[in-house]
Amino acid sequence: MAYLDQLQAQFPEIEFEAEQSLAPHTTVKIGGPAEVFCLLKEKVHLINVTQFALKQNIPLTILGWGANSLISDSGIRGLVIKNLCQEITVHPQSQTVETQTDQSTTTPARWQAADQPETGYNAGADFSQLDYFEAEAPRVLVTMDAGVSLPMAINTLLSQGITGLQWYTRIPASIGGAIYNNIHGGKHFIGELLQSVQVIDQTGELKRYLASELELDYDHSRFHHSKEIIISADFLLFKGAVEKAKSIVIAWAKQKAIQPQNSLGCVFQNITAKEQARLGLPTPSTGYLIQKVLTLQGLQIGDAKISDRHAAFIENVGHATAADYLAVIRKIIQAAQAKCQLHLKPEIFFLGFTASELDGIVQTASAESSASA
Ligand SMILES: Cc1cc2nc3c(=O)[nH]c(=O)nc-3n(C[C@H](O)[C@H](O)[C@H](O)COP(=O)(O)OP(=O)(O)OC[C@H]3O[C@@H](n4cnc5c(N)ncnc54)[C@H](O)[C@@H]3O)c2cc1C
Repeated sequence: MAYLDQLQAQFPEIEFEAEQSLAPHTTVKIGGPAEVFCLLKEKVHLINVTQFALKQNIPLTILGWGANSLISDSGIRGLVIKNLCQEITVHPQSQTVETQTDQSTTTPARWQAADQPETGYNAGADFSQLDYFEAEAPRVLVTMDAGVSLPMAINTLLSQGITGLQWYTRIPASIGGAIYNNIHGGKHFIGELLQSVQVIDQTGELKRYLASELELDYDHSRFHHSKEIIISADFLLFKGAVEKAKSIVIAWAKQKAIQPQNSLGCVFQNITAKEQARLGLPTPSTGYLIQKVLTLQGLQIGDAKISDRHAAFIENVGHATAADYLAVIRKIIQAAQAKCQLHLKPEIFFLGFTASELDGIVQTASAESSASA
């Protein structure tokens, strides 16, 4: 592994470790080692190490909070960077140009009705009553490193009178991970607040994209296929009603408390409106489908178990392996196919797996199995 010595010689101030276990760096505590691993807290280090790795053709994977990534039991070859760059800059309002964000997103609404009580299915979260728009409030430009912890950003910004992120309370995420999959909270997507994103492309060039260039959609962004590395993002937030936003944070946290943390969040995307109509279901929620239609709630393989609290989540109830987790996913996919002629699409990312390990799970394994550059 000559490149470990190369990296260490090039960046003596950074600690690079061989065969470092990645499980502790994920919420689900699953995953083998990184061939080479480093934690980066400075943006300048993230830029320099990324550019060096690209130039030397060292396979590169960026990990944020690890809340949406299933890592193979064999680990990830190449360099894995845990991004902990945490800088938040609030710009003076005179520098805030009010463009490029759109609160009335055109993103398909299939997550919206997912957990509403009128469906007869309530997995603990009903956000519909809490929603409001704050588009009338003055805007404020905030730049955040991709490694910023989303929960920390919500609290820090609220304490400075800045609102807009309250809908994402209790979502374990880095800002980079949140943009990568355009996270959703209630009726909102994080992309609604984005103005632009600074990235490093495959040639090592630093670039900036406007939000309109990011292909933001339900559980999608350009980063799924571009393999660019997100360095930082400019958000247009609000000088909004802070007490109201704080009350949302409290209500949201209460509703989301039921969701198991030893998981990767909802494993599958909700089904489309067309599929929902074909199956005559009251909700597009895959939690509903798994619990009520496939009756698989509680299924356990090894230590990976479909949560008793929320059937869209698969928990690690002990010492689950990635193979256990994948086996549960496969069972659900096969049952949905057999009973409903439905191919469920995973919402999580698979890092370090071979295409054959993901056969039947990820339709385009090479494009979606990893965010490796
Ligand atoms: C209990 C629980 C509740 C959840 N609730 C929600 C919810 O309400 N709504 C929702 O949308 N999601 C939810 N999730 C899923 C998860 O929190 C989000 O998807 C989150 O955005 C993941 O961010 P992360 O930093 O952990 O990403 P990671 O898992 O670290 O990475 C995910 C992918 O993004 C890539 N990536 C990360 N950072 C970068 C970067 N800087 N540049 C390029 N690529 C990068 C990674 O390589 C990987 O492919 C939940 C998860 C859990 C465990």
